[in-house]
Amino acid sequence: MVSRVIPVDPFDLVIFGGTGDLARRKILPGLFRRFKAGQIPEDSRIIGASRSDLSDDDYRRFTKEAIEEFIPEDERRNSPLDKFLDCLHFVTIDATGEAGWQQLSDKMRDNVVNAFYFSVAPSLFGALAERLHTYGIADAKTRIVVEKPFGRDLESARALNATLAEHFKETQIYRIDHYLGKETVQNLMAVRFANVLFEPLWNAQYVDHIQITVAETVGVGGRGAYYDKSGAMRDMVQNHLMQLLCLIAMEPPSRFDPDSVRDEKLKVIRALEPVQPYHIVRGQYDAEGDAPSYRQDAENPRSLTESFIALRVHVSNWRWAGTPFFLRTGKRLKARTSEIAVVFKDAPHSIFGQEAGTHRNILTIRLQPNEGMTLGVTIKEPGPGGMRLIDVPLDMTFADALPQEAEDVHDAYERLIMDVIRGNQTLFMRGDEVEAAWAWTDPIIDGWESRGEAPKPYEPGTAGPEDAMMLMMREGRKWREIKE
Ligand code: NAD
Repeated sequence: MVSRVIPVDPFDLVIFGGTGDLARRKILPGLFRRFKAGQIPEDSRIIGASRSDLSDDDYRRFTKEAIEEFIPEDERRNSPLDKFLDCLHFVTIDATGEAGWQQLSDKMRDNVVNAFYFSVAPSLFGALAERLHTYGIADAKTRIVVEKPFGRDLESARALNATLAEHFKETQIYRIDHYLGKETVQNLMAVRFANVLFEPLWNAQYVDHIQITVAETVGVGGRGAYYDKSGAMRDMVQNHLMQLLCLIAMEPPSRFDPDSVRDEKLKVIRALEPVQPYHIVRGQYDAEGDAPSYRQDAENPRSLTESFIALRVHVSNWRWAGTPFFLRTGKRLKARTSEIAVVFKDAPHSIFGQEAGTHRNILTIRLQPNEGMTLGVTIKEPGPGGMRLIDVPLDMTFADALPQEAEDVHDAYERLIMDVIRGNQTLFMRGDEVEAAWAWTDPIIDGWESRGEAPKPYEPGTAGPEDAMMLMMREGRKWREIKE
């Protein structure tokens, strides 16, 4: 299978916050990979911009070091690293002052796509948007990329949307949720909408429930103070888990185009029922040996912020009436894994009798590690000895099924940045989606904040608080094991 790389048109991409952590770990290495793959033309320009006092050469050195740190050596061998570095430039700029803006304006070219990555704190978005206009740098074709967090509640998200809308049309704004850039997430849409097999079963009649798990083994150490103002609900559920839920639950869009897809996702968010307090379990990890507890990491001995959350959610429409969605995410759990499991109902009648046991088809969509999908099917155990049934996975793991392509499993950021340059917003969140997600999240958070509810402590290296197990067990269901 030959990988098909279609080059994009030459562009000028300005990375505000070009010396920050995200630029270093994701944006610059991602751009290098796309350059190496032949997707970025050599006459493109990547312009780092931040308050740091760097020359173009300094920024090239900075980028080279980032690439050496985050891209394995065998991938860099015989690569056109120097040619890539030639595309890099730097402008020292103050988002909230006037320094550097004229130089940036002078550097930009008229006849190419221009995009601006706002890889800075959201409090600077307004100042950046305003100056891009004041200095005549942005035009009707300009695209801007904004990072999470997109607000911390409905009010702040609305304010942020309004600020951006003062200077840019919705079609110019690319709100990144990097989960949407994952290969498997897009493959989920292909599996659902390009096969006749799944869609007839994709409803409450055949699906018992759906589980979405995003588990991390790391704690919040290092960014504890920031995280403590956010918590798992704001940091993960409102954006990443909600987006995954939308892709699972949405109706087939009429076309795979940005607004058709996003209209359907929005309908799902608007159909979410309010969550009852007894359908939510919040947790905070304890200390373990020398490893600090959440409260120590957060440097807040009385913190009521959750590092774990599990909740039972309902999508109230015809397709999903009666099928619960269980979402959970947390830090310092047993393994690092992200997966969606669509658990189908039992066969309506077992012709094999009680001793054959109960067997269920489960479609598992793994986002990390080892992106891929498996479908558990029940078959007869080979050999004599009667009709014994076993569950075996039909494995659609990309590395096995598509060896050449798998070498090229793109980082989500690579794909999304190229989509910005191509002008394709399908995998980016629209303003109304973000607001609808906050509108559903806010009352849940307000509820536990007004009750002063403390999260349940949990032992690191486990699946979270015991109550999270009970959330499913009390209705005869069970979480899947958290494992790599
Ligand atoms: P960072 O603190 O490492 O970098 C911030 C960058 O902004 C630096 O280059 C700094 O020089 C620049 N900057 C700060 N004030 C400025 C000003 N007044 N004018 C011009 N430049 C200024 O932050 P980061 O981790 O790179 O994150 C950037 C954004 O991306 C944040 O909104 C963050 O929430 C979001 N984000 C980061 C990650 C990540 O993995 N780091 C993941 C998701 C979202």
